Amino acid sequence: MAPDDLAGRVHDARERVVDFCARLVRAPSMTGDEGPVAELVRAEMQALGLDDVSTDAAGNVIGCLHGGSGPSVMLHAHMDIVDPGDAAPWKYGPYAGEITDGQIWGRGAVDDKGCIAAQVYALGLLREAGLELPGDLYVAAVVGEEIGGLGSRYLVEQMQPDLAIIGEPSNNTLRRGHRGRFEFIVTLHGRSAHASTPHEGRNPHYAMSRFLLALRDAPMAQDADFGATTVVPTLSYVDQTSSNVIPAALSVHLDWRNAPKETVPQARALIERLLADSVEPGIRNEVRIATREVRSYTGMQETIEHAVTPFWLAADDPRLLAAQTAVSEALGRQIPIEVWPFFTDGGFLHAAGIPCIGFGPGDPAMAHVVDERLPIEQLLEATAGYMALALHLGHPAIG
Ligand SMILES: [Zn+2]
Repeated sequence: MAPDDLAGRVHDARERVVDFCARLVRAPSMTGDEGPVAELVRAEMQALGLDDVSTDAAGNVIGCLHGGSGPSVMLHAHMDIVDPGDAAPWKYGPYAGEITDGQIWGRGAVDDKGCIAAQVYALGLLREAGLELPGDLYVAAVVGEEIGGLGSRYLVEQMQPDLAIIGEPSNNTLRRGHRGRFEFIVTLHGRSAHASTPHEGRNPHYAMSRFLLALRDAPMAQDADFGATTVVPTLSYVDQTSSNVIPAALSVHLDWRNAPKETVPQARALIERLLADSVEPGIRNEVRIATREVRSYTGMQETIEHAVTPFWLAADDPRLLAAQTAVSEALGRQIPIEVWPFFTDGGFLHAAGIPCIGFGPGDPAMAHVVDERLPIEQLLEATAGYMALALHLGHPAIG
């Protein structure tokens, strides 16, 4: 399909795409409460005549167009949103879904409902065009991205597409990866005592101070494209509520943003080496990954570890370059390839062996802020971009 045809098809569908996006924004869908939005997505996929539409046990909604024997491509975006907070500062209210000034306003417009609308309509418009697709094409609207990734963790156990396009805001540029995030909890166990007799106890504060300073100064894994690993202490707490008692235990959370290729065991090994140098005899240390209970609207419940791995493709990966050609032709300008500063569900897909490329409408700076809004022109461009990606990346020569 020529780029002009793609743009024409999207242009003709403008009102439907915008209306669908606004309806998604008007349906609140905090993590764990995506049910009503999932229903909207499912109904739209069915109305657009996709070959298969299903909702899995986690609550992810998956649509499919059957194609030829070329690589299968999955378009991926998340249905959950973060808390809009107090509604008062919002110009139109967080769930108004106001369409004005060429933009769609409200929580989720950028992160991530514009991506869902563009992806669902990409499949719908390809169906309406009656084209033979080179490979199977999926769209997955998942649950639980903002907290723990329950939907995508489940999804990759059920499906193995040859390639995934991660829809998160990128201003319609391509992204070839991001750093990961590990959350460690380091606990030092000493001995409690009356604060007036410190020699009776083993106060864990001093060893933790030495450890944190050593961690601050330790050389970190480097990556020319994604930057170095960074790590900071965030939460800290003791097992005591009395200020005149030496605590027996002190815990600190470490927010660890890892460069690609650095693994949890490697990060843990560095922590343990620094602890060995920092902690005096009589104090025991414990290092673990933080966990959290998550639950989906379908009732699925899991304990999730806070260890999100990065995703990345090499700058000269042929699939990435094919994606660049496809989107550049569709949008009529040279599309750059960058990296995301934040992490996405692409990490779970990458860890399951599914190569990922990022692409989505909206300014990343609009995610998680008051007056989140999405330019309609970007929404429509992204729809054409997803169509072009599906057609080019499903080609048998790619993959
Ligand atoms: Zn997002």
